[in-house]
Amino acid sequence: MSMERASPRDDRAVTPVHVIFASYGNDSLALIRWAYERKLRDVTVLYNETGWGAACWAIRVAQCEAWVEGLGFKAARTQSIGMEALVKKERGWPRNGMQFCTEKLKIRPSLAWLAQNDPEREAICLVGVRREESVARRSFPEWTEDSAAHGHRSLWAPLVNTQVVERDALLSRAGFAPLPHRSRECEPCINSNKGDIRALGDPDIAKVERIEGELGFTGAGKPRVMFRPAQHMGAIGIREIYRWAHSGRGQYEPPVRGCDSGMCGG
Ligand code: SF4
Repeated sequence: MSMERASPRDDRAVTPVHVIFASYGNDSLALIRWAYERKLRDVTVLYNETGWGAACWAIRVAQCEAWVEGLGFKAARTQSIGMEALVKKERGWPRNGMQFCTEKLKIRPSLAWLAQNDPEREAICLVGVRREESVARRSFPEWTEDSAAHGHRSLWAPLVNTQVVERDALLSRAGFAPLPHRSRECEPCINSNKGDIRALGDPDIAKVERIEGELGFTGAGKPRVMFRPAQHMGAIGIREIYRWAHSGRGQYEPPVRGCDSGMCGG
C-alpha cells in the first residue's frame, strides 16, 4: 500500500486541491480515511447523484457526507438528468458497449463541477481503484498526469496496491464495517450480476418494471427492457430477470407465451 508515498505534486508552489471521487462504497471510504491519515490538504469528496440509487442508499450518502465534514473535508455532489429521464430521452437502456449512463450521469456532471470549482485545473483528482478488484483493473496506473475523464487534470489512485485486508483496516479505523456489496449508487446497475439482482429490493424492482412498461416496444416489436433476454436465458423484463437470478444454474424456464390450451400447435 502506498501509505508513505508523497503526493507527486506536494512540492508545487500552488497549494494542491484534492478532489476524491467517491461512491461511498468500501473502497471510497477507505480512500477518504487514507487521505485523512495522510493529512492531505483542501480535500473535497465528490459524489455523483445519478438519481438511480437504491432506496436505502440516500441515507448512507447523507451519513457519509456528515462523516466527511467531520474529518474537515468538504462534501459535494454533482447533479444530472437522472437515469429515468435519461433512458426515456434515449428511448432505451444503456448496455455494455453503449454505456451512455456513465458518460451522462457521472463523467459530464463531474467535468462540469470541476470546470466550475477548479477553472485553473490545479486540482489533483483521486479515485479508490484497487488492482485486486478485477482483471480489468490489474494494470490501473497509480498516477496519470493527464486524465481526459477528469478534464485533463492529474489523477491519483494511491490504493492501487492495497489488499482487501489493508482496506478493511482503514475502514475499521474509520468506524465502518465493510459492506458485503458494491456501492448502491445505481440500483440496479446495468452490469449487475446474478447476485446483485437477487439482492434487489421490491421498490427498485418496481421502479424498473414501471419504466420498462412506459418505454414499451421498439419498432421491431422488441420490449425495451433493462437486461437483454438473450444474455439471461430468455427472461424478459425485470420480474422475470429476478426469477432467473433465483434459479439454479441452467434451470430458468421463461414463461410459456401464447396459447397453452392444448388445442393449438403440437
Ligand atoms: S454504476 Fe452502472 S448504471 Fe450507474 S452509471 Fe455506472 S454503469 Fe451505469
